[in-house]
Amino acid sequence: MYKKDEPFWRTKSLSEMTRTEWESLCDGCGRCCLVKLEDEDTDEVSYTNVACRLLDEHTCQCSDYVNRTACVPDCLALTSDKLSTINWLPPTCAYRLVDEGRDLFWWHPLVSGDLQSVHAAGISVRGRTVSENQVSQDDIADLIVPWPLYEYRVLDDDEPD
Ligand code: SF4
Ligand code: SF4
Repeated sequence: MYKKDEPFWRTKSLSEMTRTEWESLCDGCGRCCLVKLEDEDTDEVSYTNVACRLLDEHTCQCSDYVNRTACVPDCLALTSDKLSTINWLPPTCAYRLVDEGRDLFWWHPLVSGDLQSVHAAGISVRGRTVSENQVSQDDIADLIVPWPLYEYRVLDDDEPD
């Protein structure tokens, strides 16, 4: 049971949140802006390290958030109604966590009070992507990576530990 002075993401459902609360729930990880591939037979979704052409690879923010769905037809404007129909949100996504009745991770900016903590914790896509502008469609399947589906940081082979 949560106490009365608990933060909004513990006491409200996604549909009860104000617009400001909803927007602040996004951790800024950028994982959802990676190109994903779906297996036609199994519906299994794989992530690649290929980023949407509008993703700022350093801030991990959309460079044209207001016009995103007009600029990128595949871009999904997330709503509480759509959550249950989406099978590809990463396991760290705050919307998915709240929808599943789970708490936010320590590195979420709403918990840490620091917008950089999602990057410092190695959860965001910063430094790990290549823009779709630089990749041929034929090569995308070769760029499948497992880390966007992890709940924790996993070092790349070429990173020091
Ligand atoms: S995966 Fe979820 S929390 Fe991360 S940027 Fe996308 S919508 Fe925001
Ligand atoms: S248009 Fe923006 S929000 Fe949509 S997938 Fe691309 S970078 Fe992400």
